[in-house]
Amino acid sequence: MSANSDGGVGCQDALGRLYEYLDGELSEDWTEKVRSHIERCKRCYPYFNFERIFLDHIRSLRLGPETTGRLEKRIRDALEGA
Ligand SMILES: [Zn+2]
Repeated sequence: MSANSDGGVGCQDALGRLYEYLDGELSEDWTEKVRSHIERCKRCYPYFNFERIFLDHIRSLRLGPETTGRLEKRIRDALEGA
């Protein structure tokens, strides 16, 4: 096993699985890894928190899959460009 001081995943691994995590599509193992990273990482936490609130909100609006998909893409692009 390679040495990893915090025993978890890095920011890239965690952020790269952001949407799968929020959609509940990750394996139990990865869900736990990503969650523990978010809890400890001040850089990633705002992203996940924002995404979660955003996704909850647009889903609660029941805009339909097409509009929701467009909004998700826009916010995804914005985050990736940040
Ligand atoms: Zn991080």
